[in-house]
Amino acid sequence: MFWQKDIETIDRKELEKLQLKRLQNTISRASKNIPFYKDIFAKSDIKPKDITSLRDIEKLPFTKTEDLRANYPFGMLAVPKEKVVRLHTSSGTTGKPKAIFFSKKDVNQAAELIARCLIMTGVKKDDVLQNMMTYGLFTGALVMHYGAEKVGVLVIPAGPGNTKKQISLMQDFKTTTLHITPSYALYLSSVMSNEGLNPSDFSLRRAYLGSEPYSEETRKKIESFFNIDVYNSYGLSEMNGPGVAFECTEKNGMHLWEDNFIMEIINPETGKTLPDGEKGELVLTTLCREAMPIIRYRTRDITMIIPEKCRCGRTHRRISRIIGRSDDMFIVKGVNIFPQQIERVLMGIKAVAQNYQIVLESYDRMIVRVEISRELFDGRVEHLVNLKNEIVEKLRAEVLVRPDVELLEPGTLPVTEGKAVRVIDKRTL
Ligand code: AMP
Ligand code: ZN
Repeated sequence: MFWQKDIETIDRKELEKLQLKRLQNTISRASKNIPFYKDIFAKSDIKPKDITSLRDIEKLPFTKTEDLRANYPFGMLAVPKEKVVRLHTSSGTTGKPKAIFFSKKDVNQAAELIARCLIMTGVKKDDVLQNMMTYGLFTGALVMHYGAEKVGVLVIPAGPGNTKKQISLMQDFKTTTLHITPSYALYLSSVMSNEGLNPSDFSLRRAYLGSEPYSEETRKKIESFFNIDVYNSYGLSEMNGPGVAFECTEKNGMHLWEDNFIMEIINPETGKTLPDGEKGELVLTTLCREAMPIIRYRTRDITMIIPEKCRCGRTHRRISRIIGRSDDMFIVKGVNIFPQQIERVLMGIKAVAQNYQIVLESYDRMIVRVEISRELFDGRVEHLVNLKNEIVEKLRAEVLVRPDVELLEPGTLPVTEGKAVRVIDKRTL
């Protein structure tokens, strides 16, 4: 099923023509109305009129997180303030937040993209979507909410947390679809299993998981516990929030809506564009945003473009699961490690429960604290010793550094609402 079949299956040549026209328009508006871009074009040799093909985008400088911060609050706005109808912010961990503005048109366009995503995964008007993302300044919940209303499903604006209440809502209103972070989905599954609830007694059919990196193993774990389809959902506030890229029913990479965004993959060190199929940092340019167009935004997210045609018929190319953020990577004993590598190993081990934490003690010491399933606390020490050895060995094989592993009872580690904090770096505290 399609929401806008003509555009979702558009011929690639047509798509590229449309992209170029929209790119030229975006650059022209940005260079006239946004002081930051005006300045860039004034100082550089390249002028908006020099962009005559899509490849010419490589001549333009990048926009970085720091640029959005430096121009907080209104510096990146391309329209008069009267045209703005919504503010979101994206905080990050340090310094000033980034302000993200939406005009009426932008709110509608973001909802259109979500509508495409929902219909693509088989949602119908009689579905019930429980939105467990954080409502408020964060884009995750509201943007999904508006898109789901556009499709006509019943939306339950539950927000995250208060897990028992979530379960009652799911039971009482026969929720079919969850919008949830992977870490909260894992936690929800642990609460349901402790309460002796059987997911088959619920009406759940699918879940959209996004907002933080997770592995295929985590997807499988959640799919098999709830007996549902899990679809990967990617977005970032700077580009509307959710609905930038989303999986279809093939569940093999996320279609990135190329009529709304130009995507590039670059080598994060050199800034050079990489060919399709190579891993690197995703760079996005908005093509339809009115209030706040952004050119060549460095997302810091590591992924690759999957060039092959998708069986679903959509022509918009897919990106792979996000492998990590270039700024999430940490180094132990000189080895580069992404938290997700550790997650993948842990979630592939059956006895491991839902929560874990990585503690970086010193330059050569990493402790992985893992909650294990209750059945293993049967008082038999050799079970625990064997499991611990198995985890140490599997982690060493994956990341090439031998970690210390601590096994914990379920419920020992803190549970976060919103994005989970997985890495505690004591070296920088
Ligand atoms: P925010 O701007 O707060 O919405 O955060 C956006 C960031 O969340 C992205 O740049 C990614 O690092 C991360 N993110 C969002 N969706 C996913 C996903 N499906 N997989 C991995 N990371 C994600
Ligand atoms: Zn597809």
